[in-house]
Amino acid sequence: MTDNENLRTPIVCVMGHVDHGKTTLLDRIRGSSVAAGEAGAITQHIGATEVMIDSIIERSGASGMKNNFIVPGLLFIDTPGHHAFTSLRSRGGALADLAVVIVDINEGFMPQTKESLQILKRFKTPFVVVANKIDRIHGWQPHENASFLETYNKQSERVRADLDNKFYEIVGELYNSGFNSERYDRVSDFQRNIGIIPISAVTGEGIPDLLMVLLGLAQKFLESNLHYNASGPGEGTILEVKEEKGLGTTIDIILYDGTLKKGDTIIVGSLGEPIQTKVRALLKPNPMGEISAEEKFQNVESVTAAIGVKISAPNLDDALSGATVRAANPENLETIVKEVQEELEEVQISTGTIGVTLKADTIGSLEALVNELQKEDIPIRKAEVGDISQRDIIEVSAIEDPFNAVLIGFNVKMLPDAKEKAKGADLKIFQNDVIYRLIDDYKDWVKEKKEKSEKTISQLIVKPARFLLLPECTFRQSKPAVVGVRITGGKVKTNIGVTDNSGRVVGTIKGLQLEGENIKEASAGMEVAMAIDGPTIGRQIKEGDVLYSNIPEKHAKVLETEILDSLSADEMETLDAFLEIKRRDNPFWAK
Ligand code: GDP
Repeated sequence: MTDNENLRTPIVCVMGHVDHGKTTLLDRIRGSSVAAGEAGAITQHIGATEVMIDSIIERSGASGMKNNFIVPGLLFIDTPGHHAFTSLRSRGGALADLAVVIVDINEGFMPQTKESLQILKRFKTPFVVVANKIDRIHGWQPHENASFLETYNKQSERVRADLDNKFYEIVGELYNSGFNSERYDRVSDFQRNIGIIPISAVTGEGIPDLLMVLLGLAQKFLESNLHYNASGPGEGTILEVKEEKGLGTTIDIILYDGTLKKGDTIIVGSLGEPIQTKVRALLKPNPMGEISAEEKFQNVESVTAAIGVKISAPNLDDALSGATVRAANPENLETIVKEVQEELEEVQISTGTIGVTLKADTIGSLEALVNELQKEDIPIRKAEVGDISQRDIIEVSAIEDPFNAVLIGFNVKMLPDAKEKAKGADLKIFQNDVIYRLIDDYKDWVKEKKEKSEKTISQLIVKPARFLLLPECTFRQSKPAVVGVRITGGKVKTNIGVTDNSGRVVGTIKGLQLEGENIKEASAGMEVAMAIDGPTIGRQIKEGDVLYSNIPEKHAKVLETEILDSLSADEMETLDAFLEIKRRDNPFWAK
C-alpha cells in the first residue's frame, strides 16, 4: 500500500427514480451514525456528508480489515438525483467518483432508473445498485442496521423466496440495460459484474454492506484517480450560488483537489468572463448546530479536498452552478482564467439556425438535455443556462414555424415579466425538472399538433375525384344538369368545380342524391344522381364522359407535398390522373 495521506475521499452520488428512496437513504446514512452515538462517525459538510472509514468498518463488523483500506471514508453529495450527477462536473468528467443507483425492489425499474444507468455508462462511472425497501416484503422481520446476510438468514423461507424472485427481476432488467449483475456477496469481479445490495433505507438493514462495497469499489477502481496533491492549489465545483444574510452572494462548492485558503485568489466560472476574486471567508456548518443566524457557520482558515464548503467573496453574483472554481497565483493566473473559460466553451452547445430553444439551470444539465434531444433528432436553435426571461419569450414567439416556436425549460423558473409577456404570446412552453418527461411531453404535443393540422388541412383541401356520366341517365339537360354518375376514383363533394378530361372547368357540383336522398359526398364505386350547374348535356359535356373534381393549383401542391400520406391508394391514383391532364399543357403546374 502506498501512503494514504495523498488519497482523497471518494465522492459518491445517489441516483434513481423518484420515490425509490434516495433522500431516505442519505438521511439514514447521516442519521444512524449520530443516533448510534458514534462520535466522529460522520462529518457534516456544506452540501455533503462524510462517513469516516472507521465507522464504516465498525458497522460492518469487519474491524480486522481496517488496515486493508486506504481511503479516508466516503463523501456523499447531499443532493440526490441524476440531475445533480450531470450538473456537477469536474475537469473532463463527472464530479462523483462513484454512484449508487437505488431501485424500489417492489416496483422494479422505472424510466429514471434507466436514465441513471445510461448516464453512468456515458461517464464510465463505477456504481452499485441497491434494491431498496426490502422491509416492505410481506412478512419481513426487520433487524435495525443489521448487515443484509444477517437479517436475510433470519427471515422465513417464504420471505426469502419472495425477495429472491424480486431480486432476479432486477438482475434481468440490468441485463436488458447491458449490465451483468449479481448479489454483491457473490460477485468476485466487480469489473465484470455490478453488485446489487438489498437494503432498507428505513430500517438501515444492508446499509453497512453498501458502505463496505463502495469502499471496495473505490479501492479497486479509483486508487489512481484519488491520488492528489493535498498541498496543491484548490479546485472545486459549484453546487449552488446562494444569497446569505449578512454575507451577500456566496457559493457552495465541493472541493475535489488541493487546499483552498482564506485570502486565495480564485477564478470562478460564470456565464460571461470568468470572475476573478479573493476568498473572504471559508465557512463550514457549525458543529454545535444552528443556534442563531450568525452562528450558522464556522469560519475556517483552510480546507483540503474532498470537502463541501461555502465561500464568501466579492463579486459572486454571476457565478454559475456546475462551473469550476480554481485557486490561482500571479504566475498562472492567466492560464487558469483561460482554462476555466475554455471549459465553459466546451459545453457551449453546437446549435443550428432552426429548432427549439432550451434553457437549463446548469451547464451539466443543459448538456444532458441537449444530448437527449439530439438522440431523438429534435433540432435545437439555441441552448442557454438561466431562467426564462422576457427576451426569450419575445425571441421564440417571433419564430414563424409553430413547431419551432417552442421553449423547453429544464429546472428553471419563468421570471415574472416573462410570465406576463407569455400570456397570449404565440409560442409553446414546456417546463419540468425531469428530462424524460420534458421530451415525452414535447413529442406528444408535436404528434397531436401534426395530426390536428393535417386534419384541418385535409378538411379545407379539395380532394381528387373522378366520375363517369352514365349512358341514358340524363334526368335534366341543364340549369342545373341532372345526370346519373358512377364514381370511379376518390370522393366527390358538393360545391366543388368540375373539369373535363382536357382540364377545362365546365361547371360546379350543386347536389348529390342517392335513392332520392340528398347526400354530401359519394366515394368510389357508388352510383348517384348529380346536379351540375353550368353545362348543358350534349354540348359542353355528354353521356360517357369522364369528369374530375377541379383541384385548385394551390391545393394540388399541398396534396402532393404535405398530405400525400393521408390519401388512400385510389385517391392517389386519381390525383395522378388529374395532374397528368393539367401538366399536359403546363409541365410545371402545381410544382
Ligand atoms: P426519493 O424521491 O428517491 O428521494 O424517495 P424518498 O426517500 O423521498 O422516499 C419516498 C418514500 O418511500 C418515502 O415515503 C419514504 O419514507 C419511503 N421509503 C424510502 N425508503 C424506504 C424503505 O426502505 N422502506 C420503506 N418501507 N419505505 C421507504
